[in-house]
Amino acid sequence: APENGGSTDSCRVRVAVRVRPKNSEELAHGADFDSCVELQPESKRLKLKKNNWSCESYKFDEVFSENASQKRVYEVVAKPVVESVLEGYNGTVMAYGQTGTGKTYTVGRLGKHDPSERGIMVRALKHIISSMSFETDRVAISYLQLYLESVQDLLAPEKTNIPIVEDAKTGEVSLPGAAIVEIKDLEHVFQLLQIGEANRHASNTKMNTESSRSHAILIIHLQRSSRIKEENSCSLSNDTHDIFPDDLPLVLKSKLLIVDLAGSERIDKSGSEGHMIEEAKFINLSLTSLGKCINALAENSPHIPTRDSKLTRILRDSFGGTARTSLVVTIGPSSRHYSETSSTILFGQRAM
Ligand code: ADP
Ligand code: MG
Repeated sequence: APENGGSTDSCRVRVAVRVRPKNSEELAHGADFDSCVELQPESKRLKLKKNNWSCESYKFDEVFSENASQKRVYEVVAKPVVESVLEGYNGTVMAYGQTGTGKTYTVGRLGKHDPSERGIMVRALKHIISSMSFETDRVAISYLQLYLESVQDLLAPEKTNIPIVEDAKTGEVSLPGAAIVEIKDLEHVFQLLQIGEANRHASNTKMNTESSRSHAILIIHLQRSSRIKEENSCSLSNDTHDIFPDDLPLVLKSKLLIVDLAGSERIDKSGSEGHMIEEAKFINLSLTSLGKCINALAENSPHIPTRDSKLTRILRDSFGGTARTSLVVTIGPSSRHYSETSSTILFGQRAM
């Protein structure tokens, strides 16, 4: 991707919090499920109430109440990243939070028949498709699941243990063997995402695990040549310019990763045994490692420790540097989950 000499602020991860509406159980139990969060949208602050005496206030890039629409969340969290990907930079959008707080609703909801319900994946692809010229540009997707540090193809589930390869010269990350399916229209997008979703369910049922234990990663690959002639060459690197004669079409490649992370809840306290403990260790490994990278970016550290887990190795070229990154942390409203909510908020704060 081209250099943009970006400021510190554009490198850091932008973080929004989204509070899920109360569910029927929480509504039915009334006071038992008292709300522990209060938003101050003007100052983009969230107040988290521990009890009657103790309350902390946290600032984010944006705070979304239970009334926030999918459209608004897309526009604030993902659209700037998508626009920068259309310009040729890489980017990442992630959802982090306890199981049941709305990660999949936020990023993966299809909303095939109700456009207002659509989540970030569908909206991003729609935006990209409508911005491209199909004579010269191409868009393709890969859809993967990362479970127990093993990468599986959600579009071709027989492919497991897919390696993660980094090009020594360009730093470009690829997953040899994973399907890369070119898409033409939104109907095709729904078809593929549905297949991915079904495969995620099927493989988790087979392994007797919950989908909340795995990360789902959508990679949108863009290849554009249509806009290059109109623009001046400042967005192209010098060697590309030297290698190709001026009249050859130049191709701008970029990618967008949209990640529905595994549930952030601690697993150890449920007294799990055997492979459950292995599982807990690995899930904590990738989320812990992600937290360290986000923290390092926020501190403008020269070293981002992306090699510690498969998740961060996949994110490596789409995270930090010239890539734009957004994180939505999702929380439930109820005081029952105070401690999980608090740790989710603290994870988000590490990026600020
Ligand atoms: P997660 O992926 O974090 O485990 P889900 O996205 O599956 O959580 O959400 C749990 C439940 O809450 C689902 O039934 C989902 O439809 C609902 N839900 C989550 N967020 C919202 C929201 N903002 N508005 C309406 N319903 C929501
Ligand atoms: Mg989910």
